[in-house]
Amino acid sequence: MRFEIPALPYDFDALAPHISARTVELHYEKHHKGYGKKLAAAVEGKPEAEKSLEQLILSSDGDLFNNAAQVWNHTFYWRSLKPHGGGRPTGPLENAIVASFRSVDNAKRELAEAAKGEFGSGWAWLVLDRDGRLRVGQSSDAENPIQKGHTPLLAIDVWEHAYYLDYQNRRGDYVEAVVDHLLDWGFAASNLEVVAGGEGNRDADRRYRKGATESASGPS
Ligand code: MN
Repeated sequence: MRFEIPALPYDFDALAPHISARTVELHYEKHHKGYGKKLAAAVEGKPEAEKSLEQLILSSDGDLFNNAAQVWNHTFYWRSLKPHGGGRPTGPLENAIVASFRSVDNAKRELAEAAKGEFGSGWAWLVLDRDGRLRVGQSSDAENPIQKGHTPLLAIDVWEHAYYLDYQNRRGDYVEAVVDHLLDWGFAASNLEVVAGGEGNRDADRRYRKGATESASGPS
């Protein structure tokens, strides 16, 4: 079960009232696991079955890319949120944010604007770019910043399935709730640490495992 979906890191109702238990359950059980099932079917009996998720993201296209990237993106999204999250980053992450955005508030605002402004289905990201600066970005559909050589630090899912049951068309309210109450800045700091710790910003699989569980891309 090479591409088994990691367990959700909290209960379905843990993000309420900002994201309901029903939304989390459907999002995880039907969407995230659905991408996993399609990916498993697509690689069955093929050499791609031996690749890691990141290798698939960097080397495939079409349905294979979409499903591999969405498995990765969702595992990363669940870890980007936590009950009673929000607040402010501290320590080296805070310093890096101030160096790149001038203030934490600017960074949070940019991230929220990116999430609100992504035109269709997609993602907003806080990343470390190849020059060592933090940046906010958007991606469409399943696209992932590792395709550009960036290191993801946080992700916000802005596909409608992430918020429509709770917020209908009010994506902005969902984004504000995520930024103010759910983002896990400790997770972002841990992703930055792996790079800063000299483990190599090319060692993407290692980063991913830190952000997921060992079963996500580990050997079967
Ligand atoms: Mn989603």
